[in-house]
Amino acid sequence: MFGRCQILLIKKLLKSFAAKGRPQRADPGAPRLIGPDAHGLNPDKVSKGARQVVKSLVEAGYCADLVGGCVRDLLLDKRPKDFDVVTDASPEEVRQVFPRARIVGRRFRIVHVRVGREVIEVSTYRAGNEDEAEREDSAKNKFGRILRDNVFGTRDQDVHRRDFTVNALYYDINTNTVVDYVRGLDDIEAGRLRFIGDPFTRINEDPVRMLRAVRFKAKLGLALDSGLEALCRDHARLIRHVPPARLFDEVLKLFHSGHGVETFWLLREFGLFAELFPEADRSYGEKDLDPDTGIVLKGLKNTDLRISQRKPVIAAFLFACLFWRPVRLKCDRHEAKRKNHPQILQRAAFDVLGRETERVMIPRRVSTVVIEIWDMQSRLETRRPRMVEKLLEHRRFRAAYDFLLLRSESGEVDSGLAKWWTDIQECDESSRQKMIKELGSSGPPRKRRKRQRRRPKSPNGNVR
Ligand code: ATP
Ligand code: MG
Repeated sequence: MFGRCQILLIKKLLKSFAAKGRPQRADPGAPRLIGPDAHGLNPDKVSKGARQVVKSLVEAGYCADLVGGCVRDLLLDKRPKDFDVVTDASPEEVRQVFPRARIVGRRFRIVHVRVGREVIEVSTYRAGNEDEAEREDSAKNKFGRILRDNVFGTRDQDVHRRDFTVNALYYDINTNTVVDYVRGLDDIEAGRLRFIGDPFTRINEDPVRMLRAVRFKAKLGLALDSGLEALCRDHARLIRHVPPARLFDEVLKLFHSGHGVETFWLLREFGLFAELFPEADRSYGEKDLDPDTGIVLKGLKNTDLRISQRKPVIAAFLFACLFWRPVRLKCDRHEAKRKNHPQILQRAAFDVLGRETERVMIPRRVSTVVIEIWDMQSRLETRRPRMVEKLLEHRRFRAAYDFLLLRSESGEVDSGLAKWWTDIQECDESSRQKMIKELGSSGPPRKRRKRQRRRPKSPNGNVR
């Protein structure tokens, strides 16, 4: 009925209809070479380690540029989190230049080069995966999701594999030139986050890119390209196809970016939080989402503050805050039936952590600490005189105490209790002993365990 040309024309028309309403696409063409007058970057702002790595690779005869977040952040006048180098040397060749470097990753092989205390990630230019012969190194599943991406290529090809235009700028520090294939510099100036290529295809290839979009919006204040928010909302479910171990890393990057509160709201808005942590999401009520009373928001705010002060943060504290509500709800249900508290808490903790781990794999080394933080709460509340010093010396005391402070700020426990624990850490030895002694006299009387009277056995062994 239709000729081949007509069918092609119809296909083209259908494609153009489908593309309508989708965010704009940015396709790489010939690169623009941008000199220092236009980009304003200073190579001295690049870390010593990254400069050293680029220098060694170039001296060994390879191309090497800075790429990704570091170029983006320098252009935005922010401090880069780390410096990524991209080269035409294969991972093995990079290792020949830096014999002590380590090749890491399976899905995406890169090299970690240590220079002093810095670790520089060196990746090799990636190419497309059309070539049948290279199937082994590069693979997509039947839904178009990228499983492996280890086919090496040129810089012109590499740019297609990057997610956003602002992350696809190459900075050649030797010539002080920025190489821009995708009008990334314009997007940086306009404060816009735009996918390279068709946004739906890019999300489908790797749904983690939705989480990255949220992270860059929260962290850098970039505006999402039109239609991108709706696209994320419509396809949030794709997150279920990401390996749980990878999601754990991404969740930490999201919440430890220094903009955790903003990130939390964006993830909820896009329906991504419910995909990552379904049980926690369902458990949050009005009070939990109120910045004055919600432990999650207070915890995230506290973490943001610590990061801004360059203080250390731990993953366990984040999960202790995120999952406290569902655990409490479970405990409350049991407490109504007057069951033993620590055991209930442990059971509820295992239950919630077990279920949430199906989507985001929380390693045991982290979940054990989460449980310890929760478990110590009742002991901090009870303040048994004989236990106080042991608690103060406990390796999780600091995290458990911080968590108690959050609970007190949100009205869950008496503020006098939190103050007592603050004071006892700050006072001298004799005042400490006095505080403990006072507990003994004013604290709740210790429950005496009733000694069970042994019933004499009857001669035939039966209890009478
Ligand atoms: P950050 O400031 O968090 O380090 P970043 O953009 O540098 O942000 P990285 O995870 O360090 O993020 O990745 C470095 C670069 O690799 C990115 O800028 C981007 O070009 C590319 N990249 C990383 N992850 C992806 C992905 N999932 N899909 C496509 N490109 C990616
Ligand atoms: Mg980076």
